[in-house]
Amino acid sequence: MVENVVVVGAGVYGAAVAASLARRGACVAVVDAGAPASGTSGATFSWTNSCGKQPRSYHDLSVAGMEAHRRLAAEVPHGRWYHESGNLEWADDDAEREQLRRKVDGVLQYGYDARWLSRAEVLRLEPDIDPAELPPDEIAYFPREGWIEPAPLIAHLVSTAVGRGAEVIQNDAVTGLEVAGGMVRTVRLASGRRLVADAVVNCAGPQAGQIAELAGLALPMRNMPGVLVYTSPVAVSVSRVVHAPRVHLRPDGAGRLLLHTPDIDGAVGASGTVEQQAVDEVLEAGRSLYPGLRAATVQDVRVGERPIPGDGLPVLGRVAELPNFFFAVSHSGATLSLHAGDLVAAEVLGGDQDGALAPFRFERLRLP
Ligand SMILES: Cc1cc2nc3c(=O)[nH]c(=O)nc-3n(C[C@H](O)[C@H](O)[C@H](O)COP(=O)(O)OP(=O)(O)OC[C@H]3O[C@@H](n4cnc5c(N)ncnc54)[C@H](O)[C@@H]3O)c2cc1C
Repeated sequence: MVENVVVVGAGVYGAAVAASLARRGACVAVVDAGAPASGTSGATFSWTNSCGKQPRSYHDLSVAGMEAHRRLAAEVPHGRWYHESGNLEWADDDAEREQLRRKVDGVLQYGYDARWLSRAEVLRLEPDIDPAELPPDEIAYFPREGWIEPAPLIAHLVSTAVGRGAEVIQNDAVTGLEVAGGMVRTVRLASGRRLVADAVVNCAGPQAGQIAELAGLALPMRNMPGVLVYTSPVAVSVSRVVHAPRVHLRPDGAGRLLLHTPDIDGAVGASGTVEQQAVDEVLEAGRSLYPGLRAATVQDVRVGERPIPGDGLPVLGRVAELPNFFFAVSHSGATLSLHAGDLVAAEVLGGDQDGALAPFRFERLRLP
């Protein structure tokens, strides 16, 4: 019988898995090498979406992830970490316009909510955008999308787990897993502490490959850095996630905005520093879109490491050859983790989730 479960990592995945396990009655220890939310979940754009995700099973998992956020937000009205205010997206050249059309057509076929807006309609939603930056029409709007604030969400989930008896062990890395008789028996920590485990869930995000290796498993990862630029608080009305051709942005609480472009991800040096010119260009692109941003300065630049399994899809659930070892690892964890973490927790405690998890099993990534 599964009683003691060790969850490795306290990002969005570890927190979601731990809360679900504790709610289901397990005795949980969550171990993090740092503090909760100190990994990728503390440096993410955290847009909740299933915009163009393929294959269909990944799209459906993402839609279920968005639904799980909606449900939790309704259960915890004071939570305020979930913002379902929609996403706007447009293109400024023919190739990208065609790509956007295909994406909208594709999600509409899946029954996802997407519509086309004109410039005038967008300006009613986002009145502080410079009208000259918008095309006259063909602006895609995805009204059920939005973003989460990961730190308060993780705080809620971790405190839910602690309220049901979970132990949170911070600043202590997992350094070893003792396997005997085809099962993980003990988790060794840097402090020298040893945790007896009936089951272990690997929620170590970009470090998931290293934790898998401790169990003798090879998990191929192709992590990618991403750069986020946080502005000072500014009196500009931005209510939605906006994907404009030269900048992506969203509100980040207390009047701050969070800015990103795919290009800036390439400006991370070997030491993890970000080229100043790239940061300036992102802010300038934001200012062109929202002229009120002229007053904003850059308050913070963070580099997050996207945890991306080898084929880009999530790795979730039980490992066949080590049946008390589980994965909860993916990119898009801000969207997926509440739902996917709950499925993994159910499976840890004996409820097979093959219906939902079959496309995301570790075994598909095994070398022949
Ligand atoms: C720039 C950027 C933009 C993104 N945009 C989006 C988006 O718009 N929408 C979306 O859904 N997702 C997005 N993501 C992805 C999303 O943020 C991640 O999928 C998610 O945060 C991963 O959460 P996690 O809990 O798996 O990992 P993490 O948050 O990294 O948590 C893993 C934890 O494990 C701990 N750990 C590691 N090794 C050990 C060890 N040996 N012992 C103990 N603890 C250990 C770490 O300290 C860390 O706290 C983005 C990511 C980035 C970087």
